[in-house]
Amino acid sequence: MREIIRIENLSKKYGNFVALKNVSLEVKEGEIYGLLGPNGAGKTTLMKTIYGKSKYSIEYKELSVFGLNPLKDDIKIRCFTGIVPQDDNLDYELSVLQNLYIFSKYFGLAKKESLKRIEELLNFMELNDKRNVKIRELSGGMRRRLTIARALLNKPSLLILDEPTTGLDPQVRHTIWDKIRKLKAEGVTILITTHYMDEAYQLCDRISIMNLGEKIIEGNPKKLISENIENYVLEIPTNLYKHNKEHHFRSENFGEITRFFSNDLMRLKEFSTSFGVDNLILRQSNLEDLFLKFTGRKLDE
Ligand code: ADP
Repeated sequence: MREIIRIENLSKKYGNFVALKNVSLEVKEGEIYGLLGPNGAGKTTLMKTIYGKSKYSIEYKELSVFGLNPLKDDIKIRCFTGIVPQDDNLDYELSVLQNLYIFSKYFGLAKKESLKRIEELLNFMELNDKRNVKIRELSGGMRRRLTIARALLNKPSLLILDEPTTGLDPQVRHTIWDKIRKLKAEGVTILITTHYMDEAYQLCDRISIMNLGEKIIEGNPKKLISENIENYVLEIPTNLYKHNKEHHFRSENFGEITRFFSNDLMRLKEFSTSFGVDNLILRQSNLEDLFLKFTGRKLDE
């Protein structure tokens, strides 16, 4: 499959602060690629570099989007790209329809063509009944859906979404995931940042886990878990767990909670019952456990 984005040894500084350190990655045509990491990991900086909004104090061996360099050809890249920033920058005094129409002018769409596209997008993002409502009267979820609709006006081949569901309730998150999957089915390549491990797990074909400006590990989320971490986790309040209690599990102490890892569910269950408490958490391992294993930190720290 063709690569839409190719980055090799990308570093970026803000003054003396190193925000990205030697990051390399490739995003292939038609995939959903996720950048997962806690706040401050460098996800937004990396995205802004990819669409040419961040241009200074950058070093790289390779930096190309659609074969173009975003530091020089950002306008050309934006013709093929839809961008959903964290901050929606909608015009709050205008209606949904007016916001879309004004934005369509940036792409130089003729009036008839732009009105047709707006109708398609209002239907796709389920905003038809809100077309004449002013932005300040919309819920957070509606604004986010509108920002996505706006990013799709130019029928982009690449859609870049920066934390698209942060702060939204679970129902809206699922609606947005559903739309993102539909866009992938239509052949759109999608790059998404998130600090929600469930979002990365559910949506992405491949992810990079980032921490403190570095890429730590990359791959298919399910494979990353199965190849790097035991299948099951038992969580025990640390004050309940006595250090002299004999066990052969890999364990990690994390403040109030100690986690025990094993591929043997039955043995973990037996160990759990030995505490004589019935509300201990025994669950499948997830990307959070993986992040913790590689960094010693939690994703939401
Ligand atoms: P993320 O999107 O993963 O939360 P960011 O890319 O926004 O991370 O930020 C990475 C680091 O760079 C953070 O420590 C942040 O404080 C810093 N940073 C981001 N933007 C700027 C800026 N314009 N000037 C100085 N530091 C910045």
